[in-house]
Amino acid sequence: MDIKNNTYQVQGLDLVKVVKEFDSPLYVYDADKIVSQLQKLKNAFSNQKIRVKYAVKALSNISILKLLKKHGAGVDVVSVQEAKLALKAGFEPGDILFTPNCVSFEEIQQGVDMGLMINIDNISILEQFGHKYRNSVPCCVRLNPHIMAGGNTKISTGHVDSKFGISIYQLPHLLRVIKTTNIDVIGLHMHTGSDILDADVFLKVAEILYGVAREFPNLEFVDFGSGFKVGYKENDITTNVYDLGVKLGKSFDDFCETYGRKLEMWFEPGKYLVSESGYFLVRANVIKTTPATVFVGVDSGMNHLLRPMMYDAYHEIINISNPKGIQRVYSIVGYICETDTFGWDRKLNEVREGDILAIKNAGAYGFSMSSNYNSRYRPAEVLIYEGKAHLIRERETMEDILRNQVEIDL
Ligand SMILES: *Cc1c(COP(=O)(O)O)cnc(C)c1O
Repeated sequence: MDIKNNTYQVQGLDLVKVVKEFDSPLYVYDADKIVSQLQKLKNAFSNQKIRVKYAVKALSNISILKLLKKHGAGVDVVSVQEAKLALKAGFEPGDILFTPNCVSFEEIQQGVDMGLMINIDNISILEQFGHKYRNSVPCCVRLNPHIMAGGNTKISTGHVDSKFGISIYQLPHLLRVIKTTNIDVIGLHMHTGSDILDADVFLKVAEILYGVAREFPNLEFVDFGSGFKVGYKENDITTNVYDLGVKLGKSFDDFCETYGRKLEMWFEPGKYLVSESGYFLVRANVIKTTPATVFVGVDSGMNHLLRPMMYDAYHEIINISNPKGIQRVYSIVGYICETDTFGWDRKLNEVREGDILAIKNAGAYGFSMSSNYNSRYRPAEVLIYEGKAHLIRERETMEDILRNQVEIDL
């Protein structure tokens, strides 16, 4: 987003005008930003056979999937429904990695029937997989290296009491199952969470993977998951992908040499690709002064953007209707009948009722985690692509609220 001629713009479009056209609340995504993030990651690993598998759960709109497909990404899905979306968006089954957690074996079988690459994250399912398919269907296994990524246990998945992956301490058991059922493991996977600070944590995880990889002679790829950190605040530490490309690239080359052949290097970024592309635009309904603070009550809430309430996530908020206004301190809250705070004690250019606020970094886990709580409609979504604003999801209506509800005679 740039500020030009006193207006906030994306690809030359004034965001306040975009809201005038499509109404609020509104999710707006900048296609150029998504493509440039993908390109940055690919460039950082240009010496590797790199495959980027976009984590669909971050933002699952079909037009976003098509954009990423057009630019050469594959996808990582966590449900057969996400896989169906990806197929509809044009991905080949072979470009789809299915990484479910705690799903039934029936769902795994559906994934196999759809032709997906299955990433198995527990020994019980792996045994069933082996008995059913033996070596006729290659698969990937998800390991848990027990590396703590970041400080937030809600978003780190590699620690000891995490439910994700097969513990590396269970390696002997894992190998016995693979051997007795003759499973063809062609990929090793680790995803330690969404908050890795720097290349060193990736390298630690990588060393653990390399250590066990020699037990798996048929590998074609190693999947390092995600964990790329993007900045939500000014001066936040972010993952330097070029630094990572150099360090992890070198360690991977060394590993491949001892392994005996050059393997593919996979990543599954969600946030990294789409977070910064997204702006959630809301309207100030009321300014309410209390003894504690000045509240700005907006026409949205945790039903549309859950991260602040769920993870204590910080999202920068700006007033795009009044760029020259004097700065004042506000607490920005939603209309849901619960404590519903987007940001406490924030400095914004003076907010007047009717102004449009932009909540930044709203591309990842924004719309995809939204709900109809309080029987509110979910917002519309707009993709700014080649300088034009395209509606990619219509705003809901009362019909959507009533869909599937069954009214009985009483
Ligand atoms: C959620 C998830 C990702 C993406 O994580 P981000 O932090 O959004 O990059 C990648 N892989 C798996 C298996 C996931 O569950």
